[in-house]
Amino acid sequence: MTGLLGASEIREIAGRLGVVPTKKLGQNFVVDANTCRRIVKSADVTDTDIALEIGPGLGSLTLALLETAASVVVIEIDARLATELPLTAERHGFNPELLTVITQDALTVNELPMSPTVLVANLPYNISVPVLLNFLAKFPTLRAGVVMVQSEVADRLAAKPNTKSYGSPSVKANWWADMSLAGTVGRTIFWPIPNVDSALVKFVRHPTPGDEALRKATFAIIEAAFAQRRKMLRGALSELFGSSAAASEIMVRAGIDPTLRGEALELAQFIAIANAAQSA
Ligand code: SAM
Repeated sequence: MTGLLGASEIREIAGRLGVVPTKKLGQNFVVDANTCRRIVKSADVTDTDIALEIGPGLGSLTLALLETAASVVVIEIDARLATELPLTAERHGFNPELLTVITQDALTVNELPMSPTVLVANLPYNISVPVLLNFLAKFPTLRAGVVMVQSEVADRLAAKPNTKSYGSPSVKANWWADMSLAGTVGRTIFWPIPNVDSALVKFVRHPTPGDEALRKATFAIIEAAFAQRRKMLRGALSELFGSSAAASEIMVRAGIDPTLRGEALELAQFIAIANAAQSA
């Protein structure tokens, strides 16, 4: 059997394994081969890439990655699905030795047996932001990727300052990479059909703007700023810096108006505040 997975085969495998998709694990499987090929194409995967997929499920996207990448490593929490993947790959004419399956919660993965170069995933929606940020932080060999997420989350990840969607995920993701929207995905290509819309986000890694100490300091400021996003920054950062006056003083030294709100600042300005606080 060649080609990618289709809707009837996906239901057949799930039935045989006794898998009833659960909301808890965000199990909405893609049943449309064209969408899988489109996702892989939009990630610019080449035959020299080691592709990483988080949450491969029944293998729809995995097979599309095996068609294109040099090898594929996947992380799946559901052991029934993880065990079946190499068999599905083999049945479709792919060399199962080019597929490494790790059965684990992606949030607990700190190392991998190989260095992935590209991330392509239909992420479990309830953990999509922490998973993406963790993998960007832990695997610096990931040069780029495309992830499918809930469309509001896609908007947040790619948002620019002074927009409704701009928030902590937008600024944090930007520490690691340039993020952009890469299209929407209709609900009917999933089984079961989800009750939210989905969209693709593309990222291309850029050099990080500072070391780990600066990143931690900057992320703490970002979190405080957006925890109370309607407040002026001097108020939102008062607990972090001891008082509103201390927060104002640090911000003035960083060249930033303390009466602004977090949503007005781009990453470079959060970094400027962190640098000013460290030199206090
Ligand atoms: N990639 C497949 C597709 O497109 O058809 C499945 C995507 S489905 C949205 C999410 C997948 O992530 C499921 O297979 C689910 O079991 C898995 N998953 C959920 N939570 C996970 C976690 N914490 N770590 C790893 N995989 C997880």
